Amino acid sequence: MSDEHKCPQCGCEHIYQDGGLWVCPECAHEWNEFSTSDTDAASTGDVRDANGNVLSDGDTITVTKDLKVKGSSLVVKSGTKVKNIKLVDGSDGHNIACKISGIGAMNLKSEFVKKS
Ligand SMILES: [Zn+2]
Repeated sequence: MSDEHKCPQCGCEHIYQDGGLWVCPECAHEWNEFSTSDTDAASTGDVRDANGNVLSDGDTITVTKDLKVKGSSLVVKSGTKVKNIKLVDGSDGHNIACKISGIGAMNLKSEFVKKS
């Protein structure tokens, strides 16, 4: 058994697998595969703007391209400043959640913004 296989709660090494779950006999903690958190980190990665700068929560960005708002006739104009962005899991490519004045909450693709 690998050294990495420890209970994340108490560090006990005598854990065992039970129907896809790992179980700790010491503290009765149950959890999913070890790889879960690693996979999340890898899939999230760094979110970069159009210039390759890394974005983070709370940043102010500027939209670099006119963007149509899905399901409406609204357009986010190129040059629109957006404050206090939040990075999200962009499985569909929309990896920035934000609120734009006059439009409301929406998700943007980091490739169409640049850090202000
Ligand atoms: Zn434990």
